Amino acid sequence: MIEKKVPLKDYCSYKTGGKAEFFTCPTDTFDLKVVLKFASDNSIPVTLIGTGYNILVSDKGVKGLVVSTGCMNNDIQIEGELVFAGAGVSLNDLILKCIDNGLAGLENMSGIPGSVGGAVIMNAGAFGTEIKDVAVQIEMCGFDGVVSSIHAEDAGFGYRKAENLKGIVTGLGLKLEHGNKDELLAKRAEILKKRSEKQPLEFPSCGSVFKRPEGGYAGTLIEQCGLKGYKIGGAQVSEKHANFIVNTGKAKSADIYALINHVQETVFKETGIKLEREVRFVGF
Ligand SMILES: Cc1cc2nc3c(=O)[nH]c(=O)nc-3n(C[C@H](O)[C@H](O)[C@H](O)COP(=O)(O)OP(=O)(O)OC[C@H]3O[C@@H](n4cnc5c(N)ncnc54)[C@H](O)[C@@H]3O)c2cc1C
Repeated sequence: MIEKKVPLKDYCSYKTGGKAEFFTCPTDTFDLKVVLKFASDNSIPVTLIGTGYNILVSDKGVKGLVVSTGCMNNDIQIEGELVFAGAGVSLNDLILKCIDNGLAGLENMSGIPGSVGGAVIMNAGAFGTEIKDVAVQIEMCGFDGVVSSIHAEDAGFGYRKAENLKGIVTGLGLKLEHGNKDELLAKRAEILKKRSEKQPLEFPSCGSVFKRPEGGYAGTLIEQCGLKGYKIGGAQVSEKHANFIVNTGKAKSADIYALINHVQETVFKETGIKLEREVRFVGF
């Protein structure tokens, strides 16, 4: 079903942003292909999102059709050490299901919010494990509706990117290892504890705003530049973790956008280091 004028703040973890002219959440690849054909036949531009944990949506909204794969192919299959997860599976549900089946390899990524599709495109990772370390094959659908299967080594995975994946991720094949369920659960709990101690999870955010620069941490540089707690409108550099920008309640996307630019410019002026954005802009 294609809806009109849907508020994208409900699909962006900053809880800001304007409306999508048209919006849809396909339930499976067939549904996705129908939607893509409709958009192509009517010359409607398509913007893709997963579950919105790493995007900032313009206050002006998005013209054309926004397609969220956040509930597409919401299915997990496990055969021995091989796992297949659809793009709309929540990464955390996948991690729990694998642990429940005594499969190790994903537990370090516990607590990373978002869908499998978004995690693949971002090559999401934490505590030394990234999607690329466990991915075997990626199922894709081109914007022309043609489906393909790509070996993980051809995906162009790098730090928070998958350069060669040009279409829509519809599913992910993984190879894990057998492990001890209780130990994996303990590891998951330890990681969730660390995350809640270090991250301002009580406020809407998109996690780390900037990628880690070579030889250092974005948060440390931002803090050294005296920007911890710095505010523009309702957006603030988190007091708890300087690489997080949080919505303190009434932020507009414009506030967050301006703060991201201010941080980038200040850090460059003070240190000569150009911080690269991890969060992706939509509709700007
Ligand atoms: C509190 C918090 C903590 C976080 N911690 C981490 C962390 O430790 N490590 C980490 O890596 N990230 C972290 N993130 C960022 C975020 O969770 C990840 O980037 C996540 O993988 C985004 O998934 P998503 O489905 O929400 O993608 P979205 O934010 O919706 O989209 C991100 C990008 O992926 C593209 N995309 C999404 N789905 C598809 C698809 N099916 N096919 C093709 N392209 C697609 C979108 O077009 C967009 O460019 C954190 C975020 C928050 C809010």
